[in-house]
Amino acid sequence: MERTLSPVPNAAPTIERVETFLLDLPTIRPHRLSVATMSGQTLMIVRLHCSDGTVGIGEGTTIAGLAYGAESPEGMKLAIDTYFAPVLVGSDATRVQALMARVGKLVKGNHFAKCAVETALLDAQGKRCGLPLSELLGGRVRDRLGVAWTLASGDTSKDIAEAEAMLSARRHNVFKLKIGRKSVAEDVAHVAAIKRAVGDRAAVRVDINMAWSETDALRGLPALADAGCELAEQPVATAAAMTRLMRRFPIALMADEVLQGPESAYELAKVSGADVFAVKTEQSGGLFAALKVGAIADAAGIELYGGTMLEGALGTIASAHVFATFPHLQWGTELFGPLLLTEEILEQPLVYRDFHLEVPNAPGLGIALDEDRVNAFRRDRSRTTVATTGTEG
Ligand SMILES: [Mg+2]
Repeated sequence: MERTLSPVPNAAPTIERVETFLLDLPTIRPHRLSVATMSGQTLMIVRLHCSDGTVGIGEGTTIAGLAYGAESPEGMKLAIDTYFAPVLVGSDATRVQALMARVGKLVKGNHFAKCAVETALLDAQGKRCGLPLSELLGGRVRDRLGVAWTLASGDTSKDIAEAEAMLSARRHNVFKLKIGRKSVAEDVAHVAAIKRAVGDRAAVRVDINMAWSETDALRGLPALADAGCELAEQPVATAAAMTRLMRRFPIALMADEVLQGPESAYELAKVSGADVFAVKTEQSGGLFAALKVGAIADAAGIELYGGTMLEGALGTIASAHVFATFPHLQWGTELFGPLLLTEEILEQPLVYRDFHLEVPNAPGLGIALDEDRVNAFRRDRSRTTVATTGTEG
């Protein structure tokens, strides 16, 4: 095996313990996607306890269990406990890329779990160096990120009321509508009604989550463009079908599900299969992989958007640090995951203000978990804890 680094140079800090647990948090309303309806969110949290006293934190989160992708929070916990931990424990905690490469040799796939572990390593290293994660990753070019909101109640008038409330609160002025569950005609009518209601005060986009056939898309995309919708995310499932739809209608096409890391990003860029890439750190396989996806898009003249896996605060801020370093971020982000949850798990809540999320300045991720809140929502909390805190209901 190649080894260009000594295992523990100059008694560098090592990882002493790997801790994982699940947090079950309720959502503010049912969140309807073409693949599933979510009424809660489960976060898999990993904490790496290092010999210098530093603790790095990371999060792995999926959309609706296994309904969206191949990993689940429970599966991530199992993978990290069983297969990642033996590699991590005793290793130099400061050589993040070298350590993740060793993990990669022993663990195939498992992009979300790798992202969580890499986040925790980078959080610890940032704390050690006194640098925010975005500076550690090469330097941020922006301190705040535009954040779209997803309207996904499944009811047009409820969605319009929600959009109006967001505009009044100056929280969001870009709305993404989840469509693809109903007929193309019904979905287009829903989008048109919302765009009519918000007018020029807000941008409207759609995410079809691969639900359309190519013939659905041939009817749906021009109708969406006529309705004033500016972008359609992953209308069809495959890169080949996306490519055939490109530049035929006055609406931008964004790739999401087909982007499973740098290799797929390169393949899609080669065939001009999208106008925009939705970069997701977990789906890409980690923060460094997401940076590569961004670089490939930039080099190919493809525009960028910061996507979400509806992560809680930790995963959201990890992504925010990555997106803050992108030279171009033409379509903003959708880093609203924590706003979909009813419970705050941070000591200091994230700052969403004036249609933007502020990127923290403190070292590492720049956020801290509120341990009491975390303990109240841990799946493995004892019955006694439940009885005393009364969090079930
Ligand atoms: Mg999407």
